[in-house]
Amino acid sequence: MITYELTPHQSQVKEVVHWFAENEMRPVSMIADQLKKVPDDWLDKVNLLGISLSMSSFGESNDDKKKKDFKKAKERQGNRLGVIASEELGWGDCAIALTLPGPGLGGPPVQHSGTPEQKERFLSIFSRDEKPKWGAYALTEPEAGSDVSGLQTTAVKVDGGYVINGQKIFITNGKRASWVVVFATVDRNLGRAGHRAFVIEKGTPGFSCSRLAEKMGLRASETAELVFEDCFVPDENLLGGEEAYVNKANGSGGFRVAMKTFDNTRPIIAAMATGIARASYEYTLDFVKREYPQHGNHYHQALRLFSEMQQKIQGARLLTWEAAWKADLGKANAKEAAMCKAYGGKIALEVTSACQEILGPYGLEGHLVEKLYRDAKIYDIFEGTNQIQQLIIARHLYEPYGLRV
Ligand SMILES: Cc1cc2nc3c(=O)[nH]c(=O)nc-3n(C[C@H](O)[C@H](O)[C@H](O)COP(=O)(O)OP(=O)(O)OC[C@H]3O[C@@H](n4cnc5c(N)ncnc54)[C@H](O)[C@@H]3O)c2cc1C
Repeated sequence: MITYELTPHQSQVKEVVHWFAENEMRPVSMIADQLKKVPDDWLDKVNLLGISLSMSSFGESNDDKKKKDFKKAKERQGNRLGVIASEELGWGDCAIALTLPGPGLGGPPVQHSGTPEQKERFLSIFSRDEKPKWGAYALTEPEAGSDVSGLQTTAVKVDGGYVINGQKIFITNGKRASWVVVFATVDRNLGRAGHRAFVIEKGTPGFSCSRLAEKMGLRASETAELVFEDCFVPDENLLGGEEAYVNKANGSGGFRVAMKTFDNTRPIIAAMATGIARASYEYTLDFVKREYPQHGNHYHQALRLFSEMQQKIQGARLLTWEAAWKADLGKANAKEAAMCKAYGGKIALEVTSACQEILGPYGLEGHLVEKLYRDAKIYDIFEGTNQIQQLIIARHLYEPYGLRV
């Protein structure tokens, strides 16, 4: 059955998160953007309230999924609740949303690929009773972003562990994180089959942060460059353990960990992009209702633009819900995750740009829509650029018919 109505529980989650976004995030949004930092006392406060950004509701392993019968799988709601909540957080402030305490992008790989001991060790540290803590996910390198097979960071097997050497760039919360899931290769000649994922803890000798990026948008979200110099990581921090990388038909365990993470996190990112677009639309609609004379070409042109914006926002939301719904049912959702990410990032840009045009010069100076416009561009880039999403979609659509993409 197809239904577009939220259940009472989903509506409640939406309302509660919206309340938080409006009353707790919005008041610090512009300040955080100017400071290029989410205030520490604000983070302490929300941590005590037990509020975190969950990217992990998608995190069940395939093995776990197989064990579930269809009825149980059908009952899962975590993915849909995750995207419903993320749209509200994106509406509140996406840079602050990405800085909410918790495992962040590092959560899904640990959740779906970690051993039971690793899950316990790395995920149990996030407690509201202590100071806020973060996890992070480090895949991107100067020579490997869209093309992950170009990974240059090396992992050399030694007695009791691995020695990591390399550099990672653009890592969200990479400096503040208690641990980072780091992808490296044991042999560059092996391509994807050589990839391994490690959890590297803060304070490990040889692991440091060399720089924080100065960005056009998402200024309050920390984006770090990380360096690994002869950094020893014990065997027990190899994600999933050695057996996760042997006995695989294609031997590409580390690559699959990286890609599976994106299937999990792209709908969350798409939902935030939808939230950015909606925030911009609502603000500008309100402005026009208040300030424009309610007649004439100018007014009618604005209404036409608003109706187009609303269609785009609703389209992005429905694609995102579909990707989350498939994940809740335990179905493969890589194509839908790419579709909603590509479309969400694209329309966030289009909507914020159209709003800027409607607001005119008023919208340019230290203004919410100006900030949303800067933030939106990043949603078109990270977690895989729009072009890369198109490639993924095309592969899923056409390769089954023998068309090589
Ligand atoms: C704010 C921010 C936060 C981030 N957080 C993280 C994080 O926490 N962890 C992490 O690992 N990474 C993170 N990233 C990195 C992000 O995922 C990459 O920037 C992104 O995947 C693009 O990779 P790249 O920068 O190497 O660009 P490139 O891959 O060099 O791409 C440059 C351009 O070439 C195009 N292109 C590349 N290959 C192809 C192709 N085959 N076909 C068509 N076009 C192509 C791209 O679409 C793009 O337009 C973050 C980035 C930003 C900006």
